[in-house]
Amino acid sequence: MVSDPKRYENFFFKGVGVSGGVGIGQAVIIKHLTTDLCPKRIITPDEIPHEIQRFEDAVKSAEQRLREIRNGLDTSHPLFDHAYILETHILLLHDRMFFEGTKTAISNELLNAEWALAQIMMNVTAAFDSIEDEYLKERARDIHFVGERVLKLLMGIQSAGMVTQLPPHSVIVAHDLSPADTAQIKKDNVFGFATDMGGKTSHTAIMARSIKIPAVTGLEKISNIVQTGDTIVIDGSTGVVIVNPDPETIYRYRERQEVYRKYQQSLMAFGMLPAVTSDGSRSVRITANIELIDEISIAVSHGAEGVGLFRTEYLFLGRSDLPSEEEQYAIYKRVLEYNNPNPVTIRTLDIGGDKMSAQIGASHEANPALGLRAIRLCLSRVDLFKTQLRAILRAAVHGTCRLLIPMVSCIKELLATKEIISQAAQELDSQGIPHQSRIKLGILVEVPSAVVIADLLAREVDFFSIGTNDLIQYAMAIDRVNEQVNYLYDTLHPAVLRLIRQTTMAAQARGIEVAMCGEMAGDPVNIPILLGLGIDELSMNALAIPLVKKLVRSVTMEECADLTRQAFEMQDSEEIRFFLEDWLGARFPRDYFVDSSQHVQ
Ligand code: PEP
Ligand code: MG
Repeated sequence: MVSDPKRYENFFFKGVGVSGGVGIGQAVIIKHLTTDLCPKRIITPDEIPHEIQRFEDAVKSAEQRLREIRNGLDTSHPLFDHAYILETHILLLHDRMFFEGTKTAISNELLNAEWALAQIMMNVTAAFDSIEDEYLKERARDIHFVGERVLKLLMGIQSAGMVTQLPPHSVIVAHDLSPADTAQIKKDNVFGFATDMGGKTSHTAIMARSIKIPAVTGLEKISNIVQTGDTIVIDGSTGVVIVNPDPETIYRYRERQEVYRKYQQSLMAFGMLPAVTSDGSRSVRITANIELIDEISIAVSHGAEGVGLFRTEYLFLGRSDLPSEEEQYAIYKRVLEYNNPNPVTIRTLDIGGDKMSAQIGASHEANPALGLRAIRLCLSRVDLFKTQLRAILRAAVHGTCRLLIPMVSCIKELLATKEIISQAAQELDSQGIPHQSRIKLGILVEVPSAVVIADLLAREVDFFSIGTNDLIQYAMAIDRVNEQVNYLYDTLHPAVLRLIRQTTMAAQARGIEVAMCGEMAGDPVNIPILLGLGIDELSMNALAIPLVKKLVRSVTMEECADLTRQAFEMQDSEEIRFFLEDWLGARFPRDYFVDSSQHVQ
């Protein structure tokens, strides 16, 4: 790809802000190697051994380099918790599809090593292209990162040291940055990064948040437009990138940088405080939603008082086998021990809908969101469900564990689930395997029928957790991944608020706790109403925690009850949103809106 020679002046781009803060510096372009640029040659059969040897040597060198980078992440390094990503990349080098697949392409199709490898990388991309799930897409990118490293070695392209030898005040601009590149960044020299690819859940984004470098991803073509030496502003909170800003814009962003820095500093302190209303009359537990084990340290450092939702299906996605009981046990144990004595709510497998697994018999369905998903699928695959339950019950002795069942829509499902849990516990008992059988059981209230029978369900469980992401989808009849109907997706719709109220009232009548773990729980605008409705626990994206705690600590229950009462008199969500934003804006001038990325749903 040839760089556009045009120099852009004060040019604004919008991508996905994945790591907050403002970085201002000089762009350094890290060129990416496209597979179409690799040499392509049909070889003769007697060249096969030589090409295979070249490929194997390149894999060996890539492995050695990745090990060096991994070993550089010692316990004092802020990315120590992420070192396992590099270990995964080392394993991927020997993945059957990658390693054997390339060698087969060399010997069967008579392709030179570079071409054979490029072909495998393109196949992976094509296979993952049609998948909606962002997490799975990221796993395809892992194979790409590894493949590109080997390809560069085959082509004799020196990439080592590119990110380690950057001049001071650099802003990295790249098509994509691998976790290995990110791990080598020297924070003193790098003020931010901007990439064409990626989203919030990429490993690179998670690592950027850990080392606290402002980052914007998903900018599509920025690496072709920006030139090395251009001045560049990265606003990782709003996802804005400005190329060659004018002096006034720079001035504005320097100010914003300072405001953000001070704001974050002051906010982080709130993360460590309990979320008690200013009148001291009510306290809510603030917990984190996690998908990957490497998110726990960020959650704890932002003030999470446990995990309110561990989406375990991510252990099952993007791999060619199923995680064993032992593997699951080790992961659940680690999360529980890390949070002990704070509670960890482990949600059982929620496969189906928009999260598909190649291994778990999700046949093609016309309406997957209404199909064999979550608990429905688990009840039809008792083998798999029981393996997970055994792993959870065993891990539960290492901390405070709560079990959460997704997508329950009727009592029958809940009773069948309880029966399988007790079978799993009995089996462990008879095998003499240590486990915790008295574990708190809850359901995700995310199907409208569960709200309607919340009084009946409340008799059977220890807690509810409201999953607004799905509850809104099913209540409003809108596919949550369909952009065309996204305008109807509104947490403040009077119907949604009434569904939440009905759930909390049923829980309160039975004396059980009610949590919320949908995205609604982390959006500041909803906090007064959620307090007014009596939610006991709010579980959210870890980055939202400090601000949410600050809000809870700044309001009284009387105010919240009053706002809730008024909001319930209003007829539509716009009116309610306007009313709440107006109130919050007046109450928390300026700093409330600084980190606007936290307000995006
Ligand atoms: C929800 O539906 O609100 C929820 C928390 O679960 P998920 O987003 O994983 O479906
Ligand atoms: Mg859900």
